[in-house]
Amino acid sequence: MTELLTASGVSLSIGRAALLRHVDLSLNGGEMVAIVGPNGAGKSTLLRLLSADLHPTRGSIVLKGRNIEAWSSADLALQRAMLSQHVSVSFPFTVEEVIRMGAGNRPHAAVQQLIDDAIAEVGLDAFRHRELPTMSGGEQQRAHFARILVQLACGEAACGPGVLMLDEPTSSLDLRHQIALVETSKQRARNGTAVIAVLHDLNLAIRFADRIIVMCDGAVAAEGTPRETITSDILRRVFHIDVPVANSEHGIPYLLPQAMRAARDPPFPMVD
Ligand code: ADP
Ligand code: MG
Repeated sequence: MTELLTASGVSLSIGRAALLRHVDLSLNGGEMVAIVGPNGAGKSTLLRLLSADLHPTRGSIVLKGRNIEAWSSADLALQRAMLSQHVSVSFPFTVEEVIRMGAGNRPHAAVQQLIDDAIAEVGLDAFRHRELPTMSGGEQQRAHFARILVQLACGEAACGPGVLMLDEPTSSLDLRHQIALVETSKQRARNGTAVIAVLHDLNLAIRFADRIIVMCDGAVAAEGTPRETITSDILRRVFHIDVPVANSEHGIPYLLPQAMRAARDPPFPMVD
């Protein structure tokens, strides 16, 4: 596997707040990495540093052998495509127009096939001419994912395998579209892309990630295969929950969250 991105001793402080503390990580082409962790653990901050949207106060990030600070923003756009956690489009752009933004200023005819493929891949054919602000949160999220797929495809056509960065890409999606999005990302990884995705659904992360990075309080609490990282001990220490990790008949671990309230608590009031 080719190492595409490496972060060494990366920290970020803003004022007196330490958002990230000495994070080391490497991303290889061909693998899908999930970042998990509680709210406020520093997951988005880490992705924003890896995409050069933010700059570390300590440590360095190297993309394809070159310090990330040395890349121009135009060249960076060819090497990595990032779907941010919060994207909003207030102008009445249509789905197709938003997805076309992923292709920058390339001639329309040259990228039309890529755009059509991305629209089909996220299942938005019927929405192609709909204005984005009129669509549901999940439909908008799929349109933005398609935009990022187009950006990735344009970059990879010019420069070879790049990095696909996704910050909670499934947060508004129904189960079917969650699985579809993660499968699409996994398929990109099989073609040589390095995929890194923040996911809250630990079962989804276990099922699809080759490697999981567990973050807590701005640092990496655990890193390894799903089996190594999603353990009852980590769930207790990092997420402060008591959830047993079971094994499916195929040997895949899974969690079945149970009610947090202890059995002795009074039942909910019944309405008659
Ligand atoms: P998450 O893991 O939920 O994505 P974030 O990376 O967004 O967490 O944020 C990590 C922590 O840093 C949070 O506690 C957040 O409140 C804090 N934070 C984010 N941006 C700033 C900022 N500009 N100044 C101070 N604290 C910040
Ligand atoms: Mg976040």
